[in-house]
This record gives sequence, C-alpha cells and structure tokens, in this order.
Amino acid sequence: MKVKARLFEKLDENKVKCHVCANECTILPDKVGICRTRKNFEGELYSLIYGSMISSGSLDPIEKKPLYNYWPGATAYSIASIGCSFKCQNCQNWSISQANPTDSGKDGFYDLKGYEDRGMSLVEMTPEQLVKKVVKSGAKTLAYTYNEPLIWHEWILDTTKLLKKEDIKTILVTNGYSTPEATKELIEVGIDAANIDLKSMSDEFYKTICGAKSVQPVLDTAKRFKSNGIHVEITNLIIPDLNDSDAEIKLLSNWIVENLGDDTPTHFSAYHPDFKQPSMKRTPFETLDKAYKIAKKEGINYVYVGNISHEKGGNTYCPNCNHLILGRSGYRFSKIDIMDLKKCPNCQYDLSNDIKGEINRKSSQRFSFF
Ligand code: SF4
Ligand code: SF4
Repeated sequence: MKVKARLFEKLDENKVKCHVCANECTILPDKVGICRTRKNFEGELYSLIYGSMISSGSLDPIEKKPLYNYWPGATAYSIASIGCSFKCQNCQNWSISQANPTDSGKDGFYDLKGYEDRGMSLVEMTPEQLVKKVVKSGAKTLAYTYNEPLIWHEWILDTTKLLKKEDIKTILVTNGYSTPEATKELIEVGIDAANIDLKSMSDEFYKTICGAKSVQPVLDTAKRFKSNGIHVEITNLIIPDLNDSDAEIKLLSNWIVENLGDDTPTHFSAYHPDFKQPSMKRTPFETLDKAYKIAKKEGINYVYVGNISHEKGGNTYCPNCNHLILGRSGYRFSKIDIMDLKKCPNCQYDLSNDIKGEINRKSSQRFSFF
C-alpha cells in the first residue's frame, strides 16, 4: 500500500532525493526510483509496497537465510515484497526483485522484455496482522528476505517495533546497500541479525553485474551493523570467471577478519546460471573448497559452504580445538555436541559470544507455506 516515505529531501521543481539506500536517487515528479517501489507524487515521496507481500509468508529453517551461528535450528517466518535496489544479472529471485508495484501496491507487473503481459497479486497486511500470524506460527524469528528488504524501510521499522514486544528476533537478508541515515534507524529500532551479501570486493563487479556504483556502502553497512551489536553473517556467491580468483577471495576474507572480526560467519555459495546468466558455468566444488581453505587460512573461524555438498562446509567447529560442535546434513543437525553455557566439551572454550541464542535440538520439520 502507498504510504509517505521516510528519509527523503525535497529539491527544486518538485524533484525529491531518496536517502533510503545508497543509490540516493533523484526522482522527478510522477517517476519512481531505481528500486521502482518509491514514487514522487507532486514533490512528496511515497513507498508503494508498505505491507505489500508476495504471500502471507512461509516458514524456513534459519540456516536457509543463511544464518548458522544465530539461534541454530530456529524457524524463520519469512516474508518478501517486490523490487530491489540492484539489477543483478544472476538474480535467482528476479521474478520478484525485478517486478514493479502498481501505485496502490496491490499488484505487481513487469517491464522486462517478453514479460510485459505477466503480473501478480500482492497480499496486503497491517503490522498488527503480520505479528499475529508470526506469533500463531510459533516461529521465534522473522526474516525479511528474497527481495531486497532495505527498500522496505518504513514497513520494517513499524513491524520490528511490534515484533520486539513479542520477543521475536528480526533478520535482514540484504545486499547491504544502505545509507548512514537508514542504517541508523534500523539499528535504533533493534534489528537483531543480518546476512549481508558481499558480492565482490570490486567496484567493477558491482557496476557491471549488479548495476550499482560501488562496494563501499556494503562494507560500511556491515561495519555499522556489527559495531552496534547486530549479529552479522556474510555470504559471498562465487561466480566462475567473475569473482572466483584466489586474490579476490583472500582480499574478501582479509577484509572480514580486519573489519568485522574473525568470529564473523562467512558463507561461500555456489552459483548456477539464472536470469541473464553472466556465466554459463556452475561453480565447481573445487572453487568452493578453495574458498573454504583460503578463508580458514586468513583466520575466519566459522567458514561455511552453501548450495553444494561439502564434507565440512555445513559444520560448526570449535575455533580453539577444532572439535565438531554442530554437524549439519543439509538444514538438519547430524550432531550437536556442546556443553551447558555453550562451552566446547573438548577444550571448554567459551562459544557463547560466537553462537547466539538457543540451539533448537528438535529442528526437523521447518518448512511450510501459508
Ligand atoms: S530506496 Fe534506493 S533505489 Fe529506491 S528510490 Fe530510494 S535511493 Fe532509489
Ligand atoms: S541484490 Fe539480491 S534480490 Fe536484488 S537483484 Fe541482486 S541478487 Fe536479486
């Protein structure tokens, strides 16, 4: 639905400038920003997707976000809208991320070539209605995911306030392309955790593959979130020939250790050709195994491999003695070996700062759609 936007400034000739994401679009009257979800009506900026969702939500394992060191085994009530601040050529969720809302926010449509006659109906909810559903589902966490949540700023602020009263943790699965102003509001409202997609360390990659200016805002957001107590995990999707060099993986791992800390869980994820297919190759096992080893060597304590089977890549090991603490097979635990107060049973290393929240030992059935 259409609501007045936050964080915009008025310019001359009824233009506006949006500060919700680092694109910082200047938007002419009757036009939308790059995300296509914020529109200038007579010199005022409106969000068109407040409470507009692709469905009533779904239940996912928290590991699917992916978050491995935050409430392991929890269920994440997952919601999404349409639109994105990027136009990644490899987007697996392009059918929602590249859709446009109508002015009422009730429907979505496409201007992608060949898809002009397709569309979708959106489900509208108030924050109160959403929170009621989440509470009823029994999920302890809510994830804003699948499309880019940062462009859903007003909805996230309003729903997070209510979710906190029910002690439900909030998670952003995001490209991290925020501004200092928007990040400040997200920190102040109390976002609990984020998985930030660090797509590459190169501005050139962000320009050519994602249609964004630079990696710097992503790095800044990750640092601001982490230094303000938000649990941060990083995902790097490795695309053959585009961001798979040893040097880039080393640079990325090094940046994480030096700026976010060696306790930052880092997920290397396998690419498969989708949408505009910037590479026709799937990421081979060897590349992901190489990334796992480089990141470990650079000092990251919790390295994970996703979208492909890897002997160690789903497991959580004690950073002090390498004892297997949480073994995973897909999204299920194959082993849980941790003492009360989250101490390693082998060396008594205190893992309580690195693995946050309760571990759900009965985590088998966690998928459903509403
Ligand atoms: S949220 Fe980002 S992409 Fe959307 S209008 Fe604002 S600055 Fe532009
Ligand atoms: S940031 Fe994510 S949702 Fe947006 S276009 Fe890129 S891959 Fe798709």
